[in-house]
Amino acid sequence: MADILYLDHAATSPLRPEAREAFMRASDLGSNASSVHSLGRKAKLLLEEARADILAGVNAIGTGGLVFTSGGTEANAQALHQAQAFDYVIVSAGEHDSIYGAVAGAAVAPLTADGAVDLDALSRLLDHPGRPFVSVMLANNETGVISDIATVAALVHACDGWLHVDAVQALGKINIDFNALEADSLALSAHKIGGGQGVGALIYNRDRTLKALIGGSGQELGLRAGTENIPGIAAFAAALKACHGVSDDLCSAQKSVETALKALGITILGEAADRVRGILYMAQPGWASSLQLIHMDMAGICVSSGSACSSGKVKSSRVVTAMGWPDLADKVLRVSGGWTTQPDDWQKFLTVWSKGYEVYLKRHNNLRVTGEVA
Ligand code: PLP
Repeated sequence: MADILYLDHAATSPLRPEAREAFMRASDLGSNASSVHSLGRKAKLLLEEARADILAGVNAIGTGGLVFTSGGTEANAQALHQAQAFDYVIVSAGEHDSIYGAVAGAAVAPLTADGAVDLDALSRLLDHPGRPFVSVMLANNETGVISDIATVAALVHACDGWLHVDAVQALGKINIDFNALEADSLALSAHKIGGGQGVGALIYNRDRTLKALIGGSGQELGLRAGTENIPGIAAFAAALKACHGVSDDLCSAQKSVETALKALGITILGEAADRVRGILYMAQPGWASSLQLIHMDMAGICVSSGSACSSGKVKSSRVVTAMGWPDLADKVLRVSGGWTTQPDDWQKFLTVWSKGYEVYLKRHNNLRVTGEVA
């Protein structure tokens, strides 16, 4: 692995040492948090400490309840489960697949060309009888673009609705303030911050009633049945404590690469919008995402074409199409740094990518001259 340059943190961020240590310590305890003996009580203590740390990490102490889940997907599913009590559902066009398409008949709030939710269009969708359940993500997983959640919350609450916010990609990259966002629920996932895969959380407004998605036994105050993943949960909390955002050095290294790319005529998607640091989403009209990925992979650089697809195939981006760039939707590349990234890594990426692009352009232009390409 030594020669691999990993720039795919938005897909999964490698396990942080702090998380590994917390995971091992909790694993060595080897007990069930529901057991009444001393080791069970120790596991329960770890569980409650992790809950308090994560609530504190998103400024939700006092106002927020927290249910541990198997990840962001389950947290989103539990939030969507609440929609049954509402009259209609709206999801933004940028939502992750675990929300987008998960509710039959949901209306879709479009995105602006910059990739944020279109607030005017959302207001029009909310001009509808009945109470809405609305899902708008905080930061998009492809572009990193941040939507104005406080404004969305005001619109939704004016209709007596529920606002769910998928904050999976925002966690660890920007300061999340649950109280200021005024969301009714917030989904988090540990593996995007180096806390390990298969653990997440749904934070909810304690003034609301949350229904269980997985019922049966009484863990998590009856809100999520199943033995808690104590090692994973301890690792999640440790990873969150270790997150200090993306440094200014990394940010300026990313910005220089963006400037160089723009000089080559490359589009930086969401460039004019408020974006989380660390995600670069780029597109140009010719070189297919799949071929770019092969080129980068052969040079030992791990990047991605957008969201990580469960089938392992390279899909055309629905988000880029929703932003009004359908012709670019299969020519995008997402480069995402994180806690293992050094400022130089951005330049290494640029050097390798530009060489490939140069070869692509030469080949494409030659083919055009010889008439092989229309
Ligand atoms: N939401 C967003 C924005 C994501 O990027 C992801 C993961 O790619 C998820 C939800 C799903 O999270 P998990 O992989 O923990 O199920």
